Amino acid sequence: MTLELASRSPLPEFDGSDRGGPEQPLLIVENFKKHFPIHSGVLNRAVAAVKAVDDVSFNVRKGETLGVVGESGCGKSTLARLLMHLLPHDEGRLVLDGDEVGERHGASLQDLRRSIQMVFQDSASSLNPRLPILESVAFGPRVRGASKTEARALAGDLLERVGLKAERFGGRYPHELSGGQKQRVNIARALALRPRLLILDEAVSALDKSVEAQVLNLLAELKEQFNLTYIFISHDLHVVRFISDRVLVMYLGQIVEIGPADDIYDNPQHPYTMALLECRLSMDPDARVDNAPLAGDPPNPINPPSGCRFHTRCPYVEDICMAKAPPLENVLASKAEGHLAACHMTHPGSGHSRASAAAPAALARAATPILTIPEA
Ligand code: SF4
Repeated sequence: MTLELASRSPLPEFDGSDRGGPEQPLLIVENFKKHFPIHSGVLNRAVAAVKAVDDVSFNVRKGETLGVVGESGCGKSTLARLLMHLLPHDEGRLVLDGDEVGERHGASLQDLRRSIQMVFQDSASSLNPRLPILESVAFGPRVRGASKTEARALAGDLLERVGLKAERFGGRYPHELSGGQKQRVNIARALALRPRLLILDEAVSALDKSVEAQVLNLLAELKEQFNLTYIFISHDLHVVRFISDRVLVMYLGQIVEIGPADDIYDNPQHPYTMALLECRLSMDPDARVDNAPLAGDPPNPINPPSGCRFHTRCPYVEDICMAKAPPLENVLASKAEGHLAACHMTHPGSGHSRASAAAPAALARAATPILTIPEA
C-alpha cells in the first residue's frame, strides 16, 4: 500500500516554498567561526582555544546534496552542529533562503530548526530507549502542537515511507530493532518536522555495507519525494561520490576545496584532496599502495601552522606557503564552474613556483609518504 503523506498529513503544511526563488541558495554560511576555549589555573581563565571551525564560508543550493569530507577532527561535525544551532557560533552569518537567521526581520531560530533536521551516526543513542518507535517519531509533531491522534497518524505514514510497517514495528522499542532499522526510524523522525534540509552526519557509517546501500537508496528516494536538500558528512569517499552533487573538503577547521563532485574526484586541485582520494581503498589488487599517501596526524588545532595549514604535510610546500594563507578562490585550470581551492599552486601570481602550471600533478602512487618534502 502506498501512502500519500501530503494528502493524509494531519499537520499544517510548513511554508517550504522557494521564497528567494530557485537561484537563491537554501543556506548561505559566511565567515563561520567556533573556537572552544581551554580553561586553566586557579581562576579558570581561558588560556587557549581549539579552533574547530575557523572562517568557513559556503552555500548550499536548493535540492542538491553537498558532501563534506575530511579526516577526523577537521571540524565537519562541529560545522553541522553550528548550522543547526545546537552550538552557538562565535562569529559569522547564516542566511536561510534569503533571510538572515537571528536578525529582526529575518528567519528565527525556530524557523531554522524547523527547516533543518539532523541524523546522527549513533542510531541507538539518538532514540529514547523507553519509547516505542511510533511514539518517538510522533514526539516532534506533538511538541509542535499536533494532537496525539494526528501525530501518530503522521508517524505511521513516515514509518511506512522509510520501509517499516507501522503495524509491525510501531510498538517496538529501539533495542528490538537492527542498526539499519533504527537509522530508518531516525530518518522518519527527522522528516516528521517537514525539514527542507537534512544534515546526515556519518548517518550510514556504522551500518553493514548491504544495509548501508539500502539506506542510501532510501535517502535518494526520500529526497525526490520530499524535495529535500542534503548535507552529507562522511569519511567514506566512495559513498560521498555516489550521493553528492558537490563536495566540500575540510582540513583543520577550514575549507580547502569545494566544487562539483565529478570535478573534485576526477580533477582534484588541492594536495590534501589528492591525498585523501589516494587513500581510498581499491578492490583492484594492482591499484593498492604500500605507502600511505597521507602520513601522520593533522597538527594541533589549538595552534595551527602559520600560512597554509596543510604546509606541514604537503609535498609541494614553499616559503610562500608558510608565510601566507592561500585564499579559497576559483581554480582557473578547472573546466567546472564553482570549483574553488585554497592552494597557492592554483592561483597564478601567488609566488609559488608551480602556480603557473595548469594544475599540480597527481600525487605519485607508492611514492614516498607525503611528509617527505621533495626537491623544488
Ligand atoms: Fe601545499 Fe602550499 Fe598548496 Fe598549502 S598552499 S597545499 S602548502 S602547495
